[in-house]
Amino acid sequence: MTTERHTKLLIIGSGPAGYTAGIYGARAMLEPILVQGVQPGGQLTITTEVENWPSRKEVQGPDLMVEMEDHARAAGTEIISDHISDLDLSKRPFTAKGESGTTYTADAVVLATGAQARWLGLPSEEKFKGFGVSACATCDGFFYRGQEIVVVGGGNSAVEEALFLTNFASKVTLIHRRDELRSEKILQDRLFKNEKITPLWFHELEEVFGTDEPLGVEGVRVRHVKTGEITEIPCKGVFIAIGHAPSNELVKDTLETHMGGYVVTKPDSTETSIPGVFAAGDLTDYKYRQAITSAGMGCMAALEAERFLAEQE
Ligand code: FAD
Ligand code: NAP
Repeated sequence: MTTERHTKLLIIGSGPAGYTAGIYGARAMLEPILVQGVQPGGQLTITTEVENWPSRKEVQGPDLMVEMEDHARAAGTEIISDHISDLDLSKRPFTAKGESGTTYTADAVVLATGAQARWLGLPSEEKFKGFGVSACATCDGFFYRGQEIVVVGGGNSAVEEALFLTNFASKVTLIHRRDELRSEKILQDRLFKNEKITPLWFHELEEVFGTDEPLGVEGVRVRHVKTGEITEIPCKGVFIAIGHAPSNELVKDTLETHMGGYVVTKPDSTETSIPGVFAAGDLTDYKYRQAITSAGMGCMAALEAERFLAEQE
């Protein structure tokens, strides 16, 4: 059944940016509708401890996101389980089509669709995806109890994943293309102190190999970036943690993007090139990409939407 819903403010995405926009938008009496997408709660639902959310020394990512959802709902945001498949920003009211069959029309839109894990793009990575190759240690780490694992990357995600995987694995090899990690120093300290983790510097993943029946990983071939030498590392699990790309599918042809697909916003603002359309969080932030900065941008987006709508009246 096709349903039509109109709202003053449509928020697309349910990470810290979306829920914070919901809290502020509702308190501005905009009666927002927030569409959650296929990952309710966003990226923090696939991690464990979050230790840098102010006021919480330690909180589980999924718990934090449930609290944010409750807060947005209590403030007055209508939260809908749906995924937007098409967005028409060519005229106002803007139109968004949900996979549920609902069409949403809105006077203003906050885009908060966040980011998704990047992959290396190797054919063997694709072949074993879901069968030994993963981008989510908290989702899949449990399957590798007592096994050897490799993690690829050198940022916060890679280091956190490597640390988390030591709860299950007998050995974790961290493969990084340089000899210096990008991650926070506190995480690096934990990594270097952990006897189960061995960093392998100046190496890139060349190929994942394994069995066909059943489909499963037996090891990886890695290449020294300077000498080209190939080494085989036996392992049962391969975790790719090489960063995230903005989820810009809805707007990549209509809004200006830069730095690999991040939506461009005006300086010190969440305004995009289309009046009434605001972008917040990891969709636009190529620099900080933190829960708190996303929440801050969600706040800005709702306040700017409120101002925009007031000017229209
Ligand atoms: P996201 O959290 O990416 O949420 C995007 C939302 O958009 C999702 O709800 C998704 O369902 C929705 N969506 C996407 N497309 C559509 C669509 N078409 N229709 C409807 N909805 C859609 N940051 C920290 O500050 N501290 C940490 O400890 C920390 N740990 C992390 C651990 C991991 C493993 C990862 C991956 C990230 C971590 N981060 C951490 C970074 C943090 O998670 C992000 O910066 C933050 O979640 C970005 O928030 P966001 O609201 O912009 O988007
Ligand atoms: P990131 O910071 O962009 O790091 C990506 C890592 O992968 C880098 O070390 C990079 O190497 C490496 N890499 C990229 N492409 C590669 C390739 N093709 N082959 C091999 N290696 C490659 O990404 P992230 O770690 O996913 O973090 C994303 C954002 O989320 C960051 O802003 C991060 O701070 C945030 N986050 C925060 C926390 C936390 O606060 N605890 C936890 C997780 C994530 P180089 O270093 O050589 O570029």
